[in-house]
Amino acid sequence: MRINFVFIIFWLDNIIMNNAIITCPECEFSKKEIMPSNQCIVFYECENCFSILRPLKNDCCVFCSYSDVQCPPVNNNE
Ligand SMILES: [Zn+2]
Repeated sequence: MRINFVFIIFWLDNIIMNNAIITCPECEFSKKEIMPSNQCIVFYECENCFSILRPLKNDCCVFCSYSDVQCPPVNNNE
């Protein structure tokens, strides 16, 4: 039971909080960020090199361009 409980917390953390790993194109620094489920983030400052990341052409937000997952609005449209 205890193991199941821990597993569920981990699962909720990843599904509901929409965690994404953003990788900076300038310095390749990666950081886990929480992605808002109801809006797109169009500016992101890299913690390591302080570059301001902007979405690439045809992408709606920095998560689509630089993270390992697409943003919730894109996922919801599919
Ligand atoms: Zn950087």
